[in-house]
Amino acid sequence: MDLTTLGLSDLAGLLQRRELSAPELTRTCLDKIQQEDGRYRSFLTVCEERAVNRAAAAQRRLDRGEGGPLTGLPLAVKDNICIKDLPATCGSKMLENYRPSYTATAVKRLEKAGMVVLGKTNMDEFAMGSTSMTSYKGGPKNPLDPDRVAGGSSGGSAAAVAAGFVPAALGSDTGGSVRQPAAFCGLAGLRPTYGAVSRFGLIAFASSMDQIGPMARRAADCGLLFAAMAGEDPLDAATKGPASRGRSGAAPAAAGELPGDCLSFLQGKVIGIPVEFFAELPSEIGALLEKTAAVFCRMGCRLQKASLPGYPYAVAAYYLLSSAEAASNLARFDGVRYGLRVQGESYAELAGRTRREGFGDEVKRRILLGNYALSSGYYERYYKKAQAVRREIRREFDRLFAGCDFLLTPTVPALPGKIGASKSPAEMYAADLCALPASLAGLPALTVTAGFAKEGLPIGLSLTGRPFQEAALVAAGAAYETYTDGGRRL
Ligand code: GLN
Repeated sequence: MDLTTLGLSDLAGLLQRRELSAPELTRTCLDKIQQEDGRYRSFLTVCEERAVNRAAAAQRRLDRGEGGPLTGLPLAVKDNICIKDLPATCGSKMLENYRPSYTATAVKRLEKAGMVVLGKTNMDEFAMGSTSMTSYKGGPKNPLDPDRVAGGSSGGSAAAVAAGFVPAALGSDTGGSVRQPAAFCGLAGLRPTYGAVSRFGLIAFASSMDQIGPMARRAADCGLLFAAMAGEDPLDAATKGPASRGRSGAAPAAAGELPGDCLSFLQGKVIGIPVEFFAELPSEIGALLEKTAAVFCRMGCRLQKASLPGYPYAVAAYYLLSSAEAASNLARFDGVRYGLRVQGESYAELAGRTRREGFGDEVKRRILLGNYALSSGYYERYYKKAQAVRREIRREFDRLFAGCDFLLTPTVPALPGKIGASKSPAEMYAADLCALPASLAGLPALTVTAGFAKEGLPIGLSLTGRPFQEAALVAAGAAYETYTDGGRRL
């Protein structure tokens, strides 16, 4: 049996039935990483000793009959999510030697449920990008075609799951960084509602949109991780819901039993097809998404034309707002408090030299853009206008969800690009357009594999839902996966 292709529930079943032990599973994954990750560069750090100890502890729990559905299962964590005493470089030279003194709440909850972290994954520098190629260590490769990018910014997490190193990983999604790499690597990925999962311990990029999200082979596995991470956290004032919400580690009810339950859940649900998103898609992706919509129809959903007129402005609004927030969040990296320090005669010289050497080009571009947009005179012209677009997009979603349950869109309007292909920043930003409306509106969105392009590369579909409807999204995604055998039979 190939352990490296199984989902979380299958692996948990083997552990519960004593057909496999947690230390054996961890060892299998660690060996595979050691033998094969030279090819993909999906990990920046592998914490072997820590993982082996925790797998042994998980096994003791299982032996006492105290294990849950996640106990003993391996996990990879994006390198902008802090784990006490492990590196958290954020893919940047700036934080090369930084070791946080605390652990992110999301990771704490998954470890409490018994998951075993194997290491920290490669990413775009400070999570800015769509390829993971801005990593100071060099970006990861897509295991489905190593000449292509794994996507970004959580490309290392996606590559680690797609390569079979771990059954699941955590990424962060500010403007699509969980969904886009998951789609490029043939996985499921969930961006939670803003405030559903604590951001404590996530190194901030654009605080009004940052969310930690799960990536796995199937939607149901994302549902399991989400349920274990979600809920109020006194350390993140943006979190909502009763303290116990979803903390038990139990799957959302609808995602637990497949496929009957999910199918019956879908009956009569209304799927909005936004005309604007489909207008300019490359023909292969457009044709596949039409087939996808037909599959939802056959499963018992109703399709309805929908409209999000503000969508063409989402890219400009997102890049302006996220850069403004990034400029202020990244001001803390001045050579005094964290990470790199390049000495200078004065504070200004020290900070200037440190930032010049520590940050890469893309990060500098965003800091410049962000500070420009926030400077007096331009604040009204750019920042306030972008906020107005954001509010309008939120209102459009409210109207849209009065008439439908989910919004169906492609995850990315393109296939993963070749490594080394040169694109201007503006072209790169434009490719995020399908992911950005949900980010601006703070809504949950799930990607699963819709089907495959001629070259065999995966194409993702995204469902966006009402706030805190993650379980419904997971049920709909899981139904699609089961019905189409993961996009192989449309
Ligand atoms: N491509 C987006 C950006 O570069 C995604 C970032 C993210 O979600 N972390 O900003």
